Amino acid sequence: ATDLVRSVHRIMGVADRTRRMQVRANADTPEDAARARAMGAQGIGLVRTEHMFLGDRRHHVEDLVLAADGDERQAVLDRLLPMQREDFRQIMEAMGGLPITIRLLDPPLHEFLPDLTELMVKAARADDAGVQRTEREQKVLDAVRRMHEQNPMLGLRGVRLGLTIPGLYGMQARAILEAQAQVLAAGGEAKVEIMVPLVSSIRELREIRREIDEVREAVEKETGSAVEVHIGTMIELPRAALRADEIAEDAEFFSFGTNDLTQTTWGFSRDDVEAGFFFTYKDRGILLISPFESIDQYGVGELVRIGAERGRSTKPGLKLGVCGEHGGDPDSIHFFNSVGLDYVSCSPFRVPVARLEAGRATLLEDEFEMHH
Ligand code: PEP
Ligand code: MG
Repeated sequence: ATDLVRSVHRIMGVADRTRRMQVRANADTPEDAARARAMGAQGIGLVRTEHMFLGDRRHHVEDLVLAADGDERQAVLDRLLPMQREDFRQIMEAMGGLPITIRLLDPPLHEFLPDLTELMVKAARADDAGVQRTEREQKVLDAVRRMHEQNPMLGLRGVRLGLTIPGLYGMQARAILEAQAQVLAAGGEAKVEIMVPLVSSIRELREIRREIDEVREAVEKETGSAVEVHIGTMIELPRAALRADEIAEDAEFFSFGTNDLTQTTWGFSRDDVEAGFFFTYKDRGILLISPFESIDQYGVGELVRIGAERGRSTKPGLKLGVCGEHGGDPDSIHFFNSVGLDYVSCSPFRVPVARLEAGRATLLEDEFEMHH
């Protein structure tokens, strides 16, 4: 067994010395971050901050979205700031100076807010029984009714939420920068990048950038030292890939989100990939690949290529990565290497495979060049 372990280590060593692309991991907790490092990840390519609000913290998102006025909203944000600061500080500590890309809140609201149908049924039952609704119940019912969307995955998500709820992204940016300042003050290292989700236009990114810059200036004044942070964007909508030359003006990096990009390019719901018609499509040979598993090089992949080229036409050194599920898929990794991405980010358990495949991709590329 030790011989086998030793050979595996040697092979991984060869792959690591060979590969051009870096390999990062997606992680949202200090435990996942530690696991990512143990697997050889060179940083975190995606912290999904909405995952920090699952479980018994879920109600905070509800409170924020349903807040009646600015004061109530600010009270929620004030409660969240120290909580988020500590979340981020712990992840920074676990990563010890390796880069961490923290994505601003991108909650699928239908997973966080109460279900409208359920609420309506409950309300109707209560009415029948002659039970008075509390003020809170009525408020929730009204708000959920008002905010109900037929297609939540194409609705109030990502940056759209950030622009709709004043102060939300500013609070998260402040939590990130204060956590970084704490780690640095304690003699540690922390390298962070702030990422904006679901951007489709430069105007969205520019507004958020301005909000983050204000927070940065305030934190610099308070701590008396310069804050270093990169701001970038997800490219996960076809329009963002097509307008990448313009979007690059306000981004220090791009990270391709191939989960949403696949959903919006094909018009396939990512939450319904088990839907019956997929099997029919595969049986009849209409779908030759499963586009959510392996990147479809001609459609989704073409948009990644266009996004990369146009982004770099504006900023030649623009850092490019991918953080959708495809980042851990062998065939997709070869494709990303050919497009010139700087890194892939995948779940911690897939990191070793990604390191190996990124190494093979570079080798194959060199061989190809030798023979042509
Ligand atoms: C993506 O869309 O590919 C992505 C990484 O974001 P999420 O999966 O969180 O929507
Ligand atoms: Mg996404």
